[in-house]
Amino acid sequence: MIDALPPLREVIARHDLRARKALGQNFLLDLNLTARIARVAGDLSACDVLEIGPGPGGLTRGLLAEGARRVLAVEKDARCLPALAEIAAAYPGRLEVLNADALGLDPMAHLAPPVRVVANLPYNVGTELLVRWLTPPQWPPFWESLTLMFQREVAERIVAQPGSRAYGRLALLAQWRCAARIALRLPPEAFTPAPKVASAVVHLTALPAPRYPADPAVLSRLVAAAFNQRRKMLRSSLRGLAPDIEDRLRAAGIPPTDRAEDVPLEGFCALARELARPAG
Ligand code: SAM
Repeated sequence: MIDALPPLREVIARHDLRARKALGQNFLLDLNLTARIARVAGDLSACDVLEIGPGPGGLTRGLLAEGARRVLAVEKDARCLPALAEIAAAYPGRLEVLNADALGLDPMAHLAPPVRVVANLPYNVGTELLVRWLTPPQWPPFWESLTLMFQREVAERIVAQPGSRAYGRLALLAQWRCAARIALRLPPEAFTPAPKVASAVVHLTALPAPRYPADPAVLSRLVAAAFNQRRKMLRSSLRGLAPDIEDRLRAAGIPPTDRAEDVPLEGFCALARELARPAG
């Protein structure tokens, strides 16, 4: 038994928490599974955990039962608050619930470092939050690690390597400054209601510094331009970035006839450094 609280099916029935599609609600009701997800985040006993979208609280209970020092749970749907209040009462002083939209919130106003993020994210805001967490104004970011549920296809894009169709902006953004791996793969039936697609939990750990030096804004512009036209040769897809792009590609060690998906992270960083140099 994970805790002394009632089973989640009973909690959902008692509080009438019928899942709403518009809020991306697919709940995890198996507390053994939510405890497993919590364990992917490692030892949480000295950490504050930011959880987005706790819903009826299955993952929240996993995090607390696994020993998280404190959990800040941010939930947009006010219907979930009474169920979450019961969990807070069972773990005095360790769970704070905010009824808010995660996209409009500065979580650090409510957290003490070190912070880890663990969430079964609503799919409709998941990628947006991930990109935001990966592109803070300063590095290292406010979080040590991110343990996040995604549609499996998005998870594959985060960990993708050059030469694959999944390789692109998300892989480069994630892998430039993080170690990223898929920790768990889950079938649709793991959720209630079952979504149409399979899911996976991705674990990202922030590196103290980027793997290769590059200006974040230049790298971001470069990667966006390269993958906007991923089937084109780089000498044509990147023409708009510099008139002498072929020379700069060669100086970065990249054949100008390569396509975006052939170029490893190291190559994009080298080219970003070349592009940051004044012309001539
Ligand atoms: N964590 C729960 C679980 O594993 O069973 C619920 C997961 S469900 C996929 C996503 C949750 O995020 C829902 O409870 C939904 O109401 C909430 N949510 C959706 N959009 C949100 C937003 N912008 N900010 C905060 N929570 C949001």
